[in-house]
Amino acid sequence: MQKIISRNMCNALMSWFDKYRREMPWRGSADPYHIWVSEMMLQQTQVATVEKYFHKWIKRFPDVSIFASADLEDVLKVWEGLGYYTRARNFHKGAKYIVAHTKDKHALFPVNYEDWLKVPGVGPYTAAAVSSIAFGYPAAVVDGNVKRVMARLFCLSDSVSTQKYHKMLFEIMNEGFYGHHPGWVNQAWMELGSLQCTARPNCSTCPLNEHCCAYKNDQVADFPRKSEKKKIPTRYGAAFIIEKDDKVLMLRRPEEGFLGGLWEYPGFTLKEPEPDYLRTFCNDHKITIIEEISETVRHTYSHFHQEIKLYKAELEGEWKTKFWTDVRWSPNNELDKLARSKIMIRISEIKSKM
Ligand code: SF4
Repeated sequence: MQKIISRNMCNALMSWFDKYRREMPWRGSADPYHIWVSEMMLQQTQVATVEKYFHKWIKRFPDVSIFASADLEDVLKVWEGLGYYTRARNFHKGAKYIVAHTKDKHALFPVNYEDWLKVPGVGPYTAAAVSSIAFGYPAAVVDGNVKRVMARLFCLSDSVSTQKYHKMLFEIMNEGFYGHHPGWVNQAWMELGSLQCTARPNCSTCPLNEHCCAYKNDQVADFPRKSEKKKIPTRYGAAFIIEKDDKVLMLRRPEEGFLGGLWEYPGFTLKEPEPDYLRTFCNDHKITIIEEISETVRHTYSHFHQEIKLYKAELEGEWKTKFWTDVRWSPNNELDKLARSKIMIRISEIKSKM
């Protein structure tokens, strides 16, 4: 692969990074567990949000063996609000894998990119980030920020969301460490994308402007190129607030699959609208609606929007179901102990004001 990142560019980037990088609780640490935690959280989440979660996480699970032996429910509770719950479950599986490969009571973390990829739940981004930052292994981190910076810097016309583009950047960047610590170079590229080469870039003060193809050609607005965004569908559903003796009925989703292991109010979400389904669901589960709540809750996941209508309801007899793995009448003042998705927390807030 041709060296398109020059030594001068890399040096300019690293001088800028030394001066302007933000302090972060995990930055400067060589502890692979701390770096792994931060990188799992940083995917699609702002640094400021991650900082709060990171402290909470390390306090609760100070090392990988404590994390690996924790109940999944505890894990989901600490992760609650970060979204992408499959990532938390896979992270837990990854920790168990590391502990299973431990010798003499010391967790043996993989050192290189290829071995990190063997850890369950670890993809190319995390493998490159942890191996480079913790162990100085030369593997490029290609995240959304980096994709945008590189597209502008070299006027790359491929769509940034393709595998081909990802692979090309991985190769370009792996040729551009020039003796600097790979972990710091990776963080410098990501930091440049976060602070300087943002959606509205500040090119006049950018350390790389004299090297930047898009800036020199007055084409910054033309990059990065994106494939047309797919419209995501809206799925409609209902949730039932069923209370008895100051307790509320909560159900736990199966551990595998969407929002796995989280607690929720009884209800459903349909892929396609079915006008009669509300009645069918109520009949099947012996639910009687007492009142329709005026507020509808909405949330957007990566692949669909969700809109849920709320109902206050009564249940005849006990809840019987095949889908949910656990049923609990939770005291109202203990709801916070259950790991729930953002939309379920929102429903609890509405319920507390009723
Ligand atoms: S000059 Fe502008 S477009 Fe080019 S890398 Fe710097 S901030 Fe990004």
